[in-house]
Amino acid sequence: MLTLNLESLWSEFLDFVKTKQSIVEYTNWLAPIRILKSTEKGLVLGVPNIFVQEYLLENYAKELANFFPPDNSGNLPLFFIIEEAQDEKPEVVEEAPLPVQERDTVFELRLNRNYTFEDFIEGPSNQFVKSAAIGVAMRPGKTYNPLFIHGGVGLGKTHLLHSIGHFIHQNNKKLKIQCITTEGFINDLVEHLKSKSIDQMKRFYRSLDVLLVDDIQFLQGRQNFEEEFSQTFEALINQGKQIVITSDKPPSQLRLSERLTARMEWGLVANIGVPDLETRVAIVQHKADKKGLKIPNPIAFFIAEHVFSNVRQLEGAINRLGAYCRMCGMDITQEVVEKTLSEMLQFVPKKRITVDSILKSVASMFNVRVNDLKSTSRTKEIAFPRQVAMYLAKELINDSLVKLASSFGGKTHSTLIHSWTKIKKQMENDEKLRRQIIMTKQNLEI
Ligand code: ADP
Ligand code: MG
Repeated sequence: MLTLNLESLWSEFLDFVKTKQSIVEYTNWLAPIRILKSTEKGLVLGVPNIFVQEYLLENYAKELANFFPPDNSGNLPLFFIIEEAQDEKPEVVEEAPLPVQERDTVFELRLNRNYTFEDFIEGPSNQFVKSAAIGVAMRPGKTYNPLFIHGGVGLGKTHLLHSIGHFIHQNNKKLKIQCITTEGFINDLVEHLKSKSIDQMKRFYRSLDVLLVDDIQFLQGRQNFEEEFSQTFEALINQGKQIVITSDKPPSQLRLSERLTARMEWGLVANIGVPDLETRVAIVQHKADKKGLKIPNPIAFFIAEHVFSNVRQLEGAINRLGAYCRMCGMDITQEVVEKTLSEMLQFVPKKRITVDSILKSVASMFNVRVNDLKSTSRTKEIAFPRQVAMYLAKELINDSLVKLASSFGGKTHSTLIHSWTKIKKQMENDEKLRRQIIMTKQNLEI
């Protein structure tokens, strides 16, 4: 592809999205993106932060793919570099221009716009922490202080933290909110130490109304920074200013000073757990809806069942599926899912599967009795599910065919192979049968 072309494609892309979006959104999210370089491989774009990159990729996946066709592996010819903050930061545009004297209180909030309470799906694993977060957001500094949210990777800690920020900002534009990663805090500190402006930084942090700190575990083993953080923490808490902290572990398991650990336990420590199956299905449907993707319920269920330890992966699966289906103009079917997501699907350690358990599962799927399946009846209503059961036995049980066949009321191993071949062939063209078999297998593995 000609490199010149890419740059003009980018400006055409911008012209196109301008027509679809409010000027405020455009100015905040797209205007800050700069072309840094145009190479053989694609365009190198400079973004002020990761959110701008995510915003672009998430909200304009379809349009980007139209303007910049992805390669065979589905990658767009776009590369991102997060540019160091410049002296002249583009100011966040508010809906109405603010009077001059109020400008100082407008903060670049650095909140991911997709991370709101409305978009956070609730379930038994996160209900408590979500309601604590909403409580804090409604009355900052007046309920739990600090609120400490801990849990594994990709379970929604950052999402909740930003939701608190959005909520407070929407309800009270005057409050000074700072949302920062622990790394960001440390970098800030290093910069200010270098330029001997540490007092200025202290003043800034101590003038906040709300401090949202992501991933406090990165403060472990960094004593000097821990000291500075503790002081900021105490200064804010003593003035009744709200602090929310996230971490991959509860305070007691962090290698931080006893004093800071105790302080972090002052308020409320809440855990965010792995969402159960139902919640994961709801998350799949919600994320798909937001992307304008239609995922039939059994398929949402299948994805949620096989991507289970981490919501971020679940989201990755939907993004990949969406990109693939758009690119190939295909509907989302079980086959497409298995093909595109094969390496993402996790398979739970299987329960030991026996001929009896297969018979039970097949019997309930086809609405017949186990004893009928074991009988010699040749009526179609019985013989067909029996063949399905034989197919599954050969697929799922690693045992001699003679032994397997004999468990079906004394059938021979050639009958078993005949049934297996027949069902396998029929599955190629029979979508309904394929679904029935998948569901029978799922029932077996739960
Ligand atoms: P963490 O900070 O715990 O590692 P994130 O907050 O970054 O996890 O969440 C990872 C992704 O999963 C985000 O895109 C987030 O929107 C999504 N996510 C996590 N939990 C939920 C939920 N309950 N509802 C909707 N999306 C969720
Ligand atoms: Mg996070």
